[in-house]
Amino acid sequence: MILIDGARYDVLSELVVEGKLPNLRKLDMRRAVTVFPSTTGPAYLPFLTGFFPGELDVPGIRWLSKDALARNFLHPHARRSYMGYEAVFFNRDIKARTIFQYFHKPWAIFSLITKGLSPRGNRTRWVRRLMYPYSHFLHDWRPLERTFARKLIEWAESDSDFLFAVFPSVDGFSHLYHPFHPKVLESYRNFDRALGTMLEVLRKRGELKDTLVLVVSDHGLSPTRTHVDLARFLHERFGCLYYPLVFKPGASSAEMVSGNGMSHIYLKNGTWRGRTFYEDIEDLQLLEDLLKLEGMDFLACRTREGAILVLGRRGRAKVLSEGGRVLYEFEGEDPLSFGGSGTFSSLEVLERTFCGEHPDAPLQLLQLFSSERTGDIVASARPGYDLRARWEFPEHRSTHGALTKDQMLVPVLSNAPLPPEPMRTVELFGWILKLSGRDHGETPTD
Ligand SMILES: [Zn+2]
Repeated sequence: MILIDGARYDVLSELVVEGKLPNLRKLDMRRAVTVFPSTTGPAYLPFLTGFFPGELDVPGIRWLSKDALARNFLHPHARRSYMGYEAVFFNRDIKARTIFQYFHKPWAIFSLITKGLSPRGNRTRWVRRLMYPYSHFLHDWRPLERTFARKLIEWAESDSDFLFAVFPSVDGFSHLYHPFHPKVLESYRNFDRALGTMLEVLRKRGELKDTLVLVVSDHGLSPTRTHVDLARFLHERFGCLYYPLVFKPGASSAEMVSGNGMSHIYLKNGTWRGRTFYEDIEDLQLLEDLLKLEGMDFLACRTREGAILVLGRRGRAKVLSEGGRVLYEFEGEDPLSFGGSGTFSSLEVLERTFCGEHPDAPLQLLQLFSSERTGDIVASARPGYDLRARWEFPEHRSTHGALTKDQMLVPVLSNAPLPPEPMRTVELFGWILKLSGRDHGETPTD
């Protein structure tokens, strides 16, 4: 399983059609919907565990646990950013078996998640820590591409029975420029060459026909013109904890941004303990003022009856899980462009929204709000905007994380016939286990 971080379906498929990715062209290709937030880390979880990030209580690349914070302001697990030193907690935070635990000699290359790997199986443990900061700050992702290509060959020549490899430069260059920049397109081509070389090694060893090849992506990206300073907006009203300023005393709100197109907003509401519901804040001007921020697409929060209320500028919707079905009702202009009220199966939700502006939105909000660590208010930005104006070096010119089509739709390619569209990336975990003769119930290896 090889993940091209930040590969957009439309960009990749166009290059395939133009014949510029000859090795990917030989594979079966589909569109799939990733998860909300559409960001690296949480969006790896469907592939590696078969669960949504909300189900695993990892609702973003940054999050806050209000209950842990209420117990102790300095609690080591009250706040998290996997972008910094707290990345070491990621494996600990995942309360599920990973795919690595179903295989005998799994390997990973450049993976943020390594739970279930032996030290020998994590092939880039040190390289990743040293080279990522170099590439990030010096804008040079080529050395990582070369290491990636070399490690793929090493894997093909090894006796390892499973590989998860991350190709980082499409995301890296997209953030620096935009998703269609020549350097980004060159990265896709470099990926295709590396894949081709690996497949050739497998073919020569007579192992290709018994190898399931799956190429996936964790999120798309859309170009960004405007950075909305959500942290400052909250700080001026309540005092706000946000990375890297997360230990300031006296703050009554917190803002944990992902990608940076989505953000979790947490409100103290007297005490940090427990969720702040819509009814607690509907009389404040806060929600209206947030919706007036340029670039805000929608807000979502919980109501006391257990529904998710979605607020757009000109309308609102209610999402509720009812006996395994999804209830959706809206009034005014439909904030998630779902286009109907009623109860729907999970598949119907996907079918109705797959090609729309907010793919899979009702179900994605339900999975996200199943986490205790999800914000009291979840904010999602419109294309062209992100929600982080400071502390992002270098400046991001592309965004993901939001619940918009360019950030949510990803390509999936395989040398085996793929499940039909519409598809969610979370379905692939069971599909891989089935094709490789394993199942969910099997006791994983150590
Ligand atoms: Zn990114």
